[in-house]
Parts: sequence; structure tokens; C-alpha cells
Amino acid sequence: MANPLFDTLFGKHAGNDAVFLHLPDGRTITYAAFLELAAQYAGLLCELGLKPGDRLAVQIAKSPQALAVYAACAQAGIVFLPLNTAYTAEEVSYFVENSGAGVLLCDARKADALLAIATDCGAVLETLNEDGTGSFSAKAAAMPAQFATVARGAEDLAAFLYTSGTTGRSKGAMLTQNNLLSNAQVLVKEWRFTSDDVLLHALPIFHTHGLFVASNITLLAGGQMIFLPSFKLDEVIAQLPRATTMMGVPTFYTRLLGDARFTKPLVEHMRLFVSGSAPLLAETHIQFENRTGLRILERYGMTETNMNTSNPYDGERRAGTVGFALPGTEVKITDSKTGATLPQGEIGEIEVRGPNVFKGYWQMPEKTAEELREDGFFITGDLGQMDADGYISIVGRNKDLIISGGYNIYPKEIELLLDEAENVLESAVIGVPHPDFGETVVGILVAQGDAKLDLAAIEDGIKASLARFKHPKRLIVLPELPRNTMGKVQKKALRDQFKDLFS
Ligand code: ATP
Ligand code: MG
Repeated sequence: MANPLFDTLFGKHAGNDAVFLHLPDGRTITYAAFLELAAQYAGLLCELGLKPGDRLAVQIAKSPQALAVYAACAQAGIVFLPLNTAYTAEEVSYFVENSGAGVLLCDARKADALLAIATDCGAVLETLNEDGTGSFSAKAAAMPAQFATVARGAEDLAAFLYTSGTTGRSKGAMLTQNNLLSNAQVLVKEWRFTSDDVLLHALPIFHTHGLFVASNITLLAGGQMIFLPSFKLDEVIAQLPRATTMMGVPTFYTRLLGDARFTKPLVEHMRLFVSGSAPLLAETHIQFENRTGLRILERYGMTETNMNTSNPYDGERRAGTVGFALPGTEVKITDSKTGATLPQGEIGEIEVRGPNVFKGYWQMPEKTAEELREDGFFITGDLGQMDADGYISIVGRNKDLIISGGYNIYPKEIELLLDEAENVLESAVIGVPHPDFGETVVGILVAQGDAKLDLAAIEDGIKASLARFKHPKRLIVLPELPRNTMGKVQKKALRDQFKDLFS
């Protein structure tokens, strides 16, 4: 019976004794063993009462077993709902209740705190720990290593993935089998993945980047992954010689560049480094090339759409841009008021359409209607611009746009200048309430190492380059910018922290 997602990514590897996962302790897991585990899990999920279309919520550490839970859901037609491991019990309760999950899988250390929540929501609680132990695995061990794959169609839901919550409360994006598959197929081709590839995987697997981009591509290509529980500099440096490719968030690359062991000989055998989930500074891109002779390939995507654009594999990978629309995906830059496509070069809303675009937000019909147009275009909430050669760059999020005295101010323009100022490591420009202007500009700066910043000189530099209404009314130095696990700067947190600056 057909189940496109399972058959294409997983099923075709049944009985294959090739290595799928390399673990940090030197152990390996073959495709065949991984699939047998997944079959046992699928059998158990059914026994726990889940039916095709039901949701399984998981808040578990990254492990081969955790990835096998995803495979089991695909095989049993269950909607996979992975949750950020950093969420508190209170936060998890929102997701379990909101999604109507029938089973919640968590680490045994959290079981006490989550039992009442699961019970209140009518969900069964089972445990699966980082080392693979737990009530779930104990029960699964008694299940057969074969499971009759449940028939599903390409338009059936495969996953609910909650957005990162950077701009507000996380929303559950409903993703179909075809949303995931079509994207994996395009990316394997665009980025030339084959069964010879060994991907260094240090990303979390509750997020689209590590779960779908990295894992689905490897599965489709039949390659291998060095599966690390998280990004640890020493471990990543030790493993890089065995890898052919790596995917990371920009902070992975800045941390690698900050280490003297990260050298050209260490990585010159690597075929591809991919970056995404947050903006990669052009400076990081250039520094990386100077150090290694290789250019990072930056791409752009999101929970709701998987990947939308990518720099080219063969052509020029242009620093500060996210490349071109992927084959099969349309990208346009539109006027936020009229929705009309803007002339090349102008800044506007990035809208995307294609088989990768989700079916809507779970139980949020109004939000879905606001962002997903009837003609299939999704209004991403990101502002962007296309250069004369067609390369797209992300200017920022529309929610971060500052409107001061009626003028639109794009934080990125100011951030790029601040970043270049002497001894500045990085910056974030935000809008905060102001009695005269509605909102005004505040620049948050982080110094390089222990350097002292000369704020007066930085202000003078800005004044020389920018129109007066864009000048930050205040520059504030912080030891670091608040970031989440995906390396995204939490501007909302900064706005909250400094909201009373001018009141
Ligand atoms: P929420 O939607 O809940 O506010 P979020 O948008 O951060 O959170 P994700 O779906 O994880 O949740 O992230 C997608 C966003 O990440 C994109 O909309 C974009 O703003 C940003 N992003 C992804 N890749 C890049 C990139 N290469 N450059 C700049 N920004 C990127
Ligand atoms: Mg978003």
C-alpha cells in the first residue's frame, strides 16, 4: 500500500545494511536496524491508541531513537509534532492542548511535571530518554520488527511543526507529506546529495532545519549522518575530517571561526557548508572563505514552507543574499498595502508559492487567511529585495520594521553600519515607543572581546552616513544579544526590555 513519505524516505532502505548514523561514541546504526526500530515504535504507537491522522507530541532529547519516532509516525500515518526541548511544562501544556495530541512522549526527568498536563488533555504519557531508555522503548522492545505501512496520500498531514515564536506565540504549521517530500527532492538535486555523503548533523531535530532539511535530504539520498546531540565545538572539530557536508545556523560558523583549530586543512575535503535559519553576516561569509577557501551556501526557509530560496551550488554564492527561488517555488516581492509586485530593487514583503507551502495554521483560520492568499501565495512576514542579477536578500521581518514620525526605517541598514564601527562585534537595532515619534530607533551594541566602545565616535559615524530620522536616539552596550537555540536574535525580548526608555 502506498505511503509516499514513508516509502520514499524510509521504506526503500529496509534490509539495507549500509550505515545511516554515526554516533559520537563510535557506534553506528545501519538503515536496516533503524527501520526495525521504527517498525517497533509504529506498532507501539498504534497499540497506545493512535490512529492515522492523530497527533504524537514529543519533547525528547536528540537521539537516533528520537529520529526513529519520526519514521514511525510516517509509517503509521500519525502526525509528528516535535517540541523544543527548552520549553517548560507550562509551555508544553499549551502545545499538547492546542494540538489535541493523543500521546505525549517526554524525558523521564520531566514525567512528573507533565503527567498531570497530559492527563488533563486526555493524552497518554510515555518516556523516552536521551540514552534510548524509558517506558516507550521498554514496551517497544516487545513489538515485532515489522509493521504493515499504513496507506497515506501525498496530501495527508505528516507533521505539525510549531514556529520558533520569534515574533509572537508559536503557531502550528500543518505540513503534508508532499510539502516535505517535494522540498527534499529539490534540495537533493540542487545541492548534489548522493549516497556518498556524510552530513555532520549538530542541529536540533525539533526544528525544520535539522529535522526536515538535513535528515530528509540524507534519507532521500541514502547517505550517512554524524549524529551529534548538539553543537559542541570540540566534538564538531573532531568529527569534521569524516564529513563531506555540514548544515548549520550562523552561530555555528562564527564559533568555528573563533577557534584556531578550524583551518583550511581541517575542511578542504568538505564539499558543502550550508547556512540558514538566521542571517549570516556578509563578514562571516568572507571570513570563512578567507580561512578555508570555501564559500558557505546560504539559503532561506521557514517552518511553514520548508526551503524557498538558495544560493547556487555551481554559480556565485553571493554574501549577504539568500540566492534564487528554488525550482518549483515562486518568490515575489510585493507592496505590503496593495499586494502588487514591486519593481526590481525595491524593498517589500516576500511572498512564496509552491508545493512546499503548508496547508495553514492548526486551528487558526483567521491567521491562516491573513497570511495565505487564495491564489496560494504565502506572505512570509519577511521583507526582502532582489538585486539586478535576481539574488534575493532578506532585509528583516516586517514586525521589526520601525515606523518613526511616519517614516519607515529598516533596522538592517543601520545594523550594517554599526557592525562596521570600530570594536563592534554585532548589533541589533530596534524600535521602542516614543512620545513624539510614536517609535524611535535604539541601537544595541556588543563589543569585540573586552574592547571599550567609543559611543560618541560611533554616533558621529552614523550621522555622517544616515538621514537624521534614522539616527539611533540611544546606543546601549550589552555583553551579548539574546538568541534562541536556532541562533535567532530575540528582538521582541529587546523591545520589551527597553520599552520604557523614553516614557
Ligand atoms: P515565528 O514565526 O514564531 O515568529 P520564526 O519565524 O523565527 O518564529 P522559523 O520558522 O523557525 O520561526 O524561522 C523562519 C524565519 O527565519 C524566516 O521567516 C526568516 O525570518 C528567518 N530566516 C531563515 N533563514 C534565513 C536566512 N538565511 N537569512 C535571514 N533570515 C532567515
Ligand atoms: Mg515565522
